[in-house]
Amino acid sequence: MMTTAFEKENQYAEELRKTAAYIGAPGKGILASDESNVTTGKRLGSVGIENTEDNRRDWRQLLYTAPGLGQYISGAILFDETLFQSSADGVPFVEILQKQGIVPGIKVDTGLQPIYGTDGETSTQGLDGLADRCKKYYAQGARFAKWRAVLKVDSSVHPSSTAILENCHALARYAQICQANGLVPIVEPEVTLGEGDYSIERTAYISEKVNSHTFRLLNEYDVMLEGILLKPNMILPGLDVSTPSPEEVAKYTVRTMLRSVPAAVPSIHFLSGGMSEEEATLNLNALQAYGPYPWSLTFSYGRALQSSTLKTWSGKPENIQAAQERLVALAKANSEAQLGNYKGPHPSPGGGRILQALRLGGAGK
Ligand code: 13P
Repeated sequence: MMTTAFEKENQYAEELRKTAAYIGAPGKGILASDESNVTTGKRLGSVGIENTEDNRRDWRQLLYTAPGLGQYISGAILFDETLFQSSADGVPFVEILQKQGIVPGIKVDTGLQPIYGTDGETSTQGLDGLADRCKKYYAQGARFAKWRAVLKVDSSVHPSSTAILENCHALARYAQICQANGLVPIVEPEVTLGEGDYSIERTAYISEKVNSHTFRLLNEYDVMLEGILLKPNMILPGLDVSTPSPEEVAKYTVRTMLRSVPAAVPSIHFLSGGMSEEEATLNLNALQAYGPYPWSLTFSYGRALQSSTLKTWSGKPENIQAAQERLVALAKANSEAQLGNYKGPHPSPGGGRILQALRLGGAGK
């Protein structure tokens, strides 16, 4: 097998491969719980909980200590504050996760800024000082990282070629810096679900372009593909178009991935991106029908694992057990969907889309 100079010199190359393979193991997916303090505050506020450090800690403690979570979840993405936090009785979250067999990950981007001269398109920030932060996160126990690029889509002009180039370039630089410092980069080029009546074909076309540009740039920077995880959107039409069937989503999503994602990538972890909790499970299950594939198709869900868990908890100690059971049931449903065995009934049936506004500045989603 050919190796690049970067790969040969990288003391972490073997570890990166192993970490990525572990996270993408059959029946496993990622719990995305890396919301910034501002976004976490909005989520907690929606169920009447004040945005304090202790309340954010209690919420993450509920998630990470859920009994049995590690059967279905192989990695959890944390925000900076959480990676250094401990449970109320003093056990570091990193240790709690490791005991569950869940690899701790860290969001390393620092949020979105406008690209001047574009119509509201954004560039993801965070390359300055990234190598030093990666070293600090590795020492604290993180073994993978996340950087979210956001591309808005419409029926005609967006995303612009400027936005695609800017975002794919930053993703590649981020991925190279992470690999040099022992963290498996989640590469997330999100073509974000938005307002409008653009078609599913349009999202497929744009996502294919964006993924292809991403891998072109990853190649330019000698990123080792066996040591990354890809986190794309599923292929959905604009919000003014009626929700497509899981089979239709699967057809376009699989075609897009086959056309644009190299076989060396171990696993593709879809984001939930505003799909309802049940829709996210049904679509993931439908994706498996067209295999076998060179990579595994699995999940890295935030909202689709957390929304009804948070509502069930609503900040009340007497609801912790029920909320943890909901989280594990959702994780199990998505684990079954990863294996193509999901039969239902869903733990959170029905339910609408879970949309959020894009937030500029600050750290992340
Ligand atoms: P959602 O599943 O809520 O889209 O979040 C996943 C994520 O981490 C996006 O960056």
